[in-house]
Amino acid sequence: MSISFCVQLDNGKIWGAGHSLFLFPPKEVSRSVILIPINQINGMTDEEIGHYVRALLSEARYAACLERSTLIKLNTPRFTEEECNKWISELREFQSRDDDIADAITILQNRLKTIHGQEKKRVLTKVRRSQFEKNREQITLALIERDGYECKQCKTQNDLTIDHILPISKGGSDQLENLRFLCRTCNSKKGDKTRVDPDYSGGEEETVK
Ligand SMILES: [Zn+2]
Repeated sequence: MSISFCVQLDNGKIWGAGHSLFLFPPKEVSRSVILIPINQINGMTDEEIGHYVRALLSEARYAACLERSTLIKLNTPRFTEEECNKWISELREFQSRDDDIADAITILQNRLKTIHGQEKKRVLTKVRRSQFEKNREQITLALIERDGYECKQCKTQNDLTIDHILPISKGGSDQLENLRFLCRTCNSKKGDKTRVDPDYSGGEEETVK
């Protein structure tokens, strides 16, 4: 087969347009085929050849998008925001042409919503923690007045932390009724049971010293 045009994709696959059969390897022909009989090429204007080349490129992109969509649907999405945006913009060209591609776009859009939700929550938690830091001294004094200076659970006075009973990352407030002294040991035991939020990095405990 003599090749008149060929397109190499990022994944290394080569798509060719040549005499009588234009896309290869043959197993990839199933959904996208462009035929440009070689005996017509000699008489074609540059414009006409350009038209076929563009069509071939489009078919190659379509085939790549189909392949990408299958991968997206098969794998639990763990994509970054950057990957989601890149793939959505690539797939969009063919979303009305194939349900698998449209589905993959929906999956990526949902993933973006999750990412943005996590980011919003992360920023809110950070702001809330800095609010707490500003009031740390007054809060410590108020807790000493209410409870004495000791771990609420084991009564030690060593290595005390201020514990948010409902963690900041779950919307817990800095009101005294949501706060208590725990030593670091008791606080990390509590953390093992209640701190299940995987988005949250860093402990809820606030060192007193
Ligand atoms: Zn303790």
